[in-house]
Amino acid sequence: MTKPVILAVDDEIQVLNAVERDLLSHYSNDYRVFKANSGTEALELVKKLKQRNSSIALFLVDQRMPGVTGIEFLTEARKYYTDARQVLLTAYAYTEVAIASINTIGLDYYLMKPWDPPEQNLFPVLDELLAEWLITAKLPYEGIRVAGTLWSAKSHATKDFLASNRIAYQWLDVEKDPEVRLLIDSINEGKAELPVVFFPDGTVLSAPENRALAEKIGIRTQAAEKHYDLIIIGGGPAGLGAAVYGASEGLRTLMIERHATGGQAGTSSRIENYLGFPKGISGSDLARRATDQAMRLGCEVLTAREVTQVRIEGNYKIVTLDDGQDLTCLALIIATGVTLRQLDVPGVKELQGAGIYYGAALTEAAHYKGEQVFVIGGANSAGQGAIWLSQFAKHVTILVRGSGLVEMSRYLIDQINATPNINIRAQSVVIEAKGRTRLEQIVVQNVDTQEPETLEAAAMFIFIGAVAHTDMVAGLVERNPQGFILTGSDLYQDGKWPKTWKLPRDPFLLETSVPGIFAAGDIRHAAIRRVASAVGQGAHAVSLVHQYLKTV
Ligand SMILES: Cc1cc2nc3c(=O)[nH]c(=O)nc-3n(C[C@H](O)[C@H](O)[C@H](O)COP(=O)(O)OP(=O)(O)OC[C@H]3O[C@@H](n4cnc5c(N)ncnc54)[C@H](O)[C@@H]3O)c2cc1C
Repeated sequence: MTKPVILAVDDEIQVLNAVERDLLSHYSNDYRVFKANSGTEALELVKKLKQRNSSIALFLVDQRMPGVTGIEFLTEARKYYTDARQVLLTAYAYTEVAIASINTIGLDYYLMKPWDPPEQNLFPVLDELLAEWLITAKLPYEGIRVAGTLWSAKSHATKDFLASNRIAYQWLDVEKDPEVRLLIDSINEGKAELPVVFFPDGTVLSAPENRALAEKIGIRTQAAEKHYDLIIIGGGPAGLGAAVYGASEGLRTLMIERHATGGQAGTSSRIENYLGFPKGISGSDLARRATDQAMRLGCEVLTAREVTQVRIEGNYKIVTLDDGQDLTCLALIIATGVTLRQLDVPGVKELQGAGIYYGAALTEAAHYKGEQVFVIGGANSAGQGAIWLSQFAKHVTILVRGSGLVEMSRYLIDQINATPNINIRAQSVVIEAKGRTRLEQIVVQNVDTQEPETLEAAAMFIFIGAVAHTDMVAGLVERNPQGFILTGSDLYQDGKWPKTWKLPRDPFLLETSVPGIFAAGDIRHAAIRRVASAVGQGAHAVSLVHQYLKTV
């Protein structure tokens, strides 16, 4: 824990040095002693310390300074540090000013100069004030802090990126906390764009891109080599399964993930049906364990990097990253999974991040304590989301288009039935979202009667089907009309293999229409969307990679 600060301010350098010497002799074990030569310099220091989230326990300030006086400095400084103790150093002739400021700024004490001997005239007073301060002091959070507004898509995106990558942070609400507002105003002349991210080393990033955040945190974003045996696109369960087996079986393996390893599974509050975890496991924990395992076994993992294109040159597969950089490999596994389909009705786009979220938005759920929230969709992910949200919200309504939870697993339906603050509203669709700065109401229509009804809603969590991510291989590998990738026997249509398949052998089970390019997990045509199947296919794809590599 970083020690709190005692800040001494005096324009007379000899006096300042003497104060510093005395303070260090008595307090250096428990406090850091800083000094400033003027009120202006001291204020700059106060702002910097606030940005670094250091705590200031005590100001010891000369009253009579040119420019900013001691009281003027304290008036400003206490806006940043409301609970710091304030002591004025004053000459006999100025005691009246000091006494008056006990009322005006809540001065704790004034000390006459000179204070020799300090054991008698300085330390007893300061000891008492510091002891008082310690009782109520809120010791600062020493990790990353994110300051923003709750109802903002950009702030949500930054929090989501950190949380998905399992990076702890403290949330500071600019609208609720005047000290945070002041802190933001002290950056870049008040022009800093939100959210602002504060790092423990004093670095501040304003509205950062995910890649910049990742680099600052120390998450790898650059490949160490130009060429690999195996590149895996996507770091969900399928990609991680492939990474663990590829690296452990001696292939030089690189996995590229555009957001956070764990994929969809990483966003699940509790996965209850994954083998080996009888009490279930949170998606975040599973993702962390699998990522650590893949890296320990030698897989290189890039995060916050997107693959935008794949092409073939001879036996080489060339993967283009979002900045245009090319990486080559002998075998490629596409494990880009799916994302939740967007709900295309009026008001949703505008309020995304401000009460409307895709998925369970684990970072946001706690903000809806005691509120009415809605979950849209009837599959397993929606059921898990509803159970998770019911711990915080007063009431959760699951809206489904059909007659009930027909697509959901029995164990989830049982849990939902046993949770008193969840109800199901069948045959209902959302046709509009309303709210000025955040979601306030949704308009729900009955699919039979077409009757609309407006309902109060603090938040809406959407889980309505899946969209494939395969643009980067469009025109290269065979896909179904929805963009899902065809592999193995799925490629055999109308009694023949695709025209592009020239080899005398049939494609391997998870091989695409291009030899050496494989697909695993949810991205495959007609995939069973489960964590275990994705992991299994990732592992299986690696064994097929070995077979393929023997042929090139
Ligand atoms: C909320 C929720 C709860 C679920 N709960 C369960 C459960 O309890 N049990 C169960 O068995 N299944 C569950 N599932 C389903 C399960 O999570 C998925 O089947 C599984 O995650 C699929 O894994 P995947 O690796 O194929 O794809 P994904 O998990 O979708 O991972 C794909 C990854 O690829 C990345 N990516 C995409 N495009 C690119 C690109 N161009 N460049 C780089 N990276 C890219 C994505 O960012 C993503 O991280 C749940 C799903 C959700 C959404």
